[in-house]
Amino acid sequence: MCRNDGTPGVRNENMPINLSGPDISQAEIDAVIEVMKSGRLSLGPKIDEFEEKLAAYVGVKHGIAVSSGTCGLHLLIRALGISHGDEVVSTPFSFIASTNCIMFEGATPVLVDIDPVTWNIDASRIEAAITPKTKALIPVDAFGEVAAMEEVEAIAARNNVRIIEDSCEALGATYRGRMAGAFGDAGVFGFYPNKQITTGEGGMITTNDDDIARLCRSMRNQGRDTGMGWLSHERLGYNYRMSDIQAAIGVEQIRRIDEILARRAQVANWYRERLKNESRIEWQHNDPECKRSWFVFVVKLADDYSEHQRNDMIAQLREREIGCSNYFAPIHLQPFYMKQFGFKPGDFPVCERVAARTIALPFHNALTQDEIDQVCTTLESLL
Ligand SMILES: *Cc1c(COP(=O)(O)O)cnc(C)c1O
Repeated sequence: MCRNDGTPGVRNENMPINLSGPDISQAEIDAVIEVMKSGRLSLGPKIDEFEEKLAAYVGVKHGIAVSSGTCGLHLLIRALGISHGDEVVSTPFSFIASTNCIMFEGATPVLVDIDPVTWNIDASRIEAAITPKTKALIPVDAFGEVAAMEEVEAIAARNNVRIIEDSCEALGATYRGRMAGAFGDAGVFGFYPNKQITTGEGGMITTNDDDIARLCRSMRNQGRDTGMGWLSHERLGYNYRMSDIQAAIGVEQIRRIDEILARRAQVANWYRERLKNESRIEWQHNDPECKRSWFVFVVKLADDYSEHQRNDMIAQLREREIGCSNYFAPIHLQPFYMKQFGFKPGDFPVCERVAARTIALPFHNALTQDEIDQVCTTLESLL
C-alpha cells in the first residue's frame, strides 16, 4: 500500500522512499469489488465506460482499451500495415517498447537523435532519415513532455507517412492546446503503476480514424469483428483485451485525473524549487508550447560528470533506500539492437550524452515536502 497521508514532518527516517507508486483511493477499491460481485469480469460494461471517458478526456472519437501500452503499439503497427522491409522512424531516448513494436512485425527501426533541449526526437533531423521504405514515424512524448508534434505532422504530410504518437508517458499533457494522444493517426497510453493513472497493467489506443479503431478492436479480440460469434475470426488477432476489473480501476482514475495531475505537478514544483540554485544539475527544458504532464522527475548531471559517477550516485542513493533509476538507457545500445542493426556507441551522441547523466528521483503522489528535501540533501551531498 502506498502511504498517502501527505502530512509533512511525520516521516519515519528509516522508511525507504520509493521511486514510484500508484495513487489509489477508496473509490478504485470499491469499484473493483463491485465488478467482482457483478460476475462480468471481461467484455463487460466497464470497458466501454473507460474507453468513452478516456477518449472524451483526450478529445478523440475512439478509445480502444488493451492489455498494455506495448500491445497498443503493436496493434497500431499492424493496423497501419507495417511489415517486413518497411522502415519506421523513432527516437533512441525512450522506453524499449516504442521501437520493439516495429520489430514485432519484422520492420526496421530507423532512429533519429534527440533535441538537446527537450530530449524528444529532433524534428529537424527526421526528414533526412526518411527513405522510400519509410511507412511511419513514432515520436515519443518523453517524461510527459509532448514532442514537437505539429512539426512532426507537417513532415509526415509532406512525405506521405503515418504517425503513431507514443503518448504512454503523457496523459493530460498538451501541445499548443491539443492533448497528447490526439496527434497523428493514433496515440497510445500505458497504465502500468508508475504512469499518471494506472489499471495495474493496461493501455489505450486513441484515434479519430474509424478504420484504425475497427481493426484494433478486432485484433485485440482474436480477430473477431463486431457482432461475430466467438469462433468466427475475420483476421489474425490476439488476446490483448483489458479485463473489466482493470477498466473499473481506470474509470475511477480518469474521474480523478485533474486531482492526480495537480498533485504530481505540486511534487515536481517542490523539487524544482528546492533544486533551483543547484548549478550541477540540468533539466529537460519545458517547451513553452507544451503543458507538461509529470510522469517521472528526472535530473541530468552537468556534462563534466561521467556515466560512471552517475551510476555510482544511483547506487549510493539506493543504498540509502532512496529509489532512483537511469531513465532512459539508450535503445540503440541495448545488446539485441546492436547485434541486429549494427548500432554502436557514438551513433546518437546527444541521446548518449543525456542518457549517461540522468537520474530519475522518487516521484509519486504520496511524497511529502520533507521527503523531497531529504532526497535533495542526499543528492547534493553526493554531487
Ligand atoms: C510505459 C511505456 C510504454 C508501454 O508500456 P507497457 O508497460 O506495455 O504498458 C510504451 N512506451 C513508453 C515510452 C512508455 O513509457
